[in-house]
Amino acid sequence: MNKHILKALGCILVILLLGACKSDPPVVKDDDKKVVTPTKKKPHAKVPRFNRDSAYAYVEKQVAFGPRVPNTAAHTACKNWLVSKFNSFGAEVIEDDFDAKGYTGTIYKATNIIAQYNPGHAKRILLAAHWDTRFIGDYDKDTAKQKDPIPGADDGGSGVGVLLEIARVLGENNIDMGVDIILFDVEDQGEGKGAEASWCLGAQHWSKNPHVPGYRNEFGILLDMVGSKGARFTREGGSMAVAPQVVNKMWKLAKNMGYGNYFVMDQTREIIDDHYFVNRMSNTKMIDIINRPANTQTGFGHYWHTHDDDMDVINKTTLRAVGQTVLAVLYRSSDGSF
Ligand SMILES: [Zn+2]
Repeated sequence: MNKHILKALGCILVILLLGACKSDPPVVKDDDKKVVTPTKKKPHAKVPRFNRDSAYAYVEKQVAFGPRVPNTAAHTACKNWLVSKFNSFGAEVIEDDFDAKGYTGTIYKATNIIAQYNPGHAKRILLAAHWDTRFIGDYDKDTAKQKDPIPGADDGGSGVGVLLEIARVLGENNIDMGVDIILFDVEDQGEGKGAEASWCLGAQHWSKNPHVPGYRNEFGILLDMVGSKGARFTREGGSMAVAPQVVNKMWKLAKNMGYGNYFVMDQTREIIDDHYFVNRMSNTKMIDIINRPANTQTGFGHYWHTHDDDMDVINKTTLRAVGQTVLAVLYRSSDGSF
């Protein structure tokens, strides 16, 4: 072979090698495949301010109707007021009427009130409280008064007051998420030391008949007795059983917001409350914010199921601690930072 042929062969070899290199598929490691174009992170949503005076006024207004015992004029008047408030705050409201049989045999004409924000949004959080009040004061020290209905400022009134203020805030501050607020009826007409199923009839009704077929949400938060001075919200057993991450994140958030004296890390046993039935009868996982004092015989406030459950036990700072924390959970959930 002469020099020219060798040179030509060399060139062909180089071209072939280069060509081969170009046509080979690039080697991509599995790790590299996972690197996708950077997603746009949602900007942090601003958490609006909870107005404690407003919440307090909503509790006061309920108590002024008188005891909200089903089948009474005060119950009906309060219902109409609650529905009108939710409407005025821009919610889409459902009044779900149903009959509920109490343990005494009484048929209650009952209504669950459901206020929806952004009903078309797939991502939702459910908030709840009960709006009825107990028909007797069976734990009153004065036995003569035990047969009379109680004012229910904290037991019923406080949770509803906080949720009304949250509804007002939601109406004024757009949130990129769905929020449902359910006020359950006939929670507190159950049999003392009786069958657990005699309690929380509204929650049981909703669990069997949700307001939207196949209704789903991220989680639910129940508020019950959230307004008394020095309230102590423990990590309740039923809540920890179904949604420990939600409880732990929320309690940590509350602590970071300066409300650690209310949201304490102690764990207490599961109690019968609306969430008890929701967690067993529906696909919602619901936690309970409820006052569990350390040093009372019943494990509830000294005023519990007595005539002392009036406006004197309601404290604005407690209402704000709960309401501001729940608002933070909502708006942080909407931007994915909860
Ligand atoms: Zn009660």
